[in-house]
Amino acid sequence: MNMYHAPPLRADPWRRIGDWLFRHRRHIQRAQWAVVVLYLCLLVVPLWLPLPDRTATVWNNLTRFAQLMFWGIWWPFVILGTALVGRMWCGLLCPEGSLSEFASRHGRGGAIPKWLQWSGWPTTAFALTTVYGQMTSVYQYPKPVALILGGSTVAAMAVGYAYGRNKRVWCRYLCPVGGVFALMAKLAPLHFRSDPFLWRLSQERGEKPGAVECAPLVPLRTMRGASDCHMCGRCSGFRGAISLTRRSPNHEIIHVAGSTPKPAETVLILAGLLGLAVGAFHWSASPWFVSAKQALGLYLIDIGWVAPLEQALPWWILTNYPGRNDVLTIVDGALLLTYILISAIALGVMLSLSVALSARCLGRWDGRRFHHLAQTLIPLAGAGLFLGLSAMTVTQLRSDGIVIPFVAELRAGFLLLAAVWSAYLGWRVSALYTASRARRIAAMACLSLAWAIAAGAWILFFWVW
Ligand code: SF4
Repeated sequence: MNMYHAPPLRADPWRRIGDWLFRHRRHIQRAQWAVVVLYLCLLVVPLWLPLPDRTATVWNNLTRFAQLMFWGIWWPFVILGTALVGRMWCGLLCPEGSLSEFASRHGRGGAIPKWLQWSGWPTTAFALTTVYGQMTSVYQYPKPVALILGGSTVAAMAVGYAYGRNKRVWCRYLCPVGGVFALMAKLAPLHFRSDPFLWRLSQERGEKPGAVECAPLVPLRTMRGASDCHMCGRCSGFRGAISLTRRSPNHEIIHVAGSTPKPAETVLILAGLLGLAVGAFHWSASPWFVSAKQALGLYLIDIGWVAPLEQALPWWILTNYPGRNDVLTIVDGALLLTYILISAIALGVMLSLSVALSARCLGRWDGRRFHHLAQTLIPLAGAGLFLGLSAMTVTQLRSDGIVIPFVAELRAGFLLLAAVWSAYLGWRVSALYTASRARRIAAMACLSLAWAIAAGAWILFFWVW
């Protein structure tokens, strides 16, 4: 056992789990390499296989199996899992994180440049990969999967090689889904807690423990939330002050998020998860998209410029699989981008107005309060993302004859639960800013517009279209 690892003060089961993670790094590393091998197989082998035909199922075709693993299991359930147990996926299993840290261990160990620490990178990277994934049909074909996921992995290794030593600079500052995981982790009922009193006591006792290799660079002494922590357990027991602990799933949003407003997170919640991501899920099912396409098509024929209606682009720019009758023309691509962009802007503006009005109802304008109230929408944002992604799980399984019962009821229940949770968080956060019940009720009335918009987008998708 490492010298800094103090014995547990209480026989708390969660603390014991944290300590177990600390003591069994070797097991964890083995599991990480096993996931890396599986990940690389699923990424690379389908490139050499023919595209699945109509008889292919997840049980007899590796490409279909990889599709289900990446988009039907991995993505939605890692998001759900992060809301349940924090970023354990990142710290214990993520292949990209493991490879980035491995590269960092053997890399140049350079200082992290300022530009790379810009807080807007995760939001920007999320938006770009989401849009690019739609343009190339990443959920359907192995080549864009290899390009997007593989490209991200190569970039993670390059950043790991260039900056930091035994660190995950990529995960901390650049990972396209790092921002989403950071938001979801705020809902987790588990976190590694750093106790300032026990920390001081250890210092007063003159203890001089060695440094902790915290790969995502979390400031251990002052950490107050679960957003940045990858739950790897390497700091468990440090100075006898850090331990895995239970907490209320509301705690971080109510009591921590307001003291450290993060505008990049607000953009990710309002315009990203509740705007751009909704557009990315909607466009292929949207009757508005079809109407716009018909209208634009007729207009182009009218003016005699039909090339954009026929012209396709290489598969790495726009979906182009003529053998599967799946080709996006320039018009399709332009409309797709416009649809997603308009969704991000329109939903983002409406949601921002609703949150801003709510913040104003609680007193004089205060940007910090606005950002804090935006955080209360995280349950709805996360639920929407999970429902959108899990729709693919349901479709993929159904095409192989596996029908999940009560899907509509489960979706409705999930959405309702998320809306009630967001409402509860809004109500509790409003109490931090005013004692006036009338002001709080007015603020909730404004915020209810945001709940309706966020839930309405998914009601349209699942029950109206
Ligand atoms: S704070 Fe760092 S070392 Fe501690 S569990 Fe989280 S990621 Fe691991």
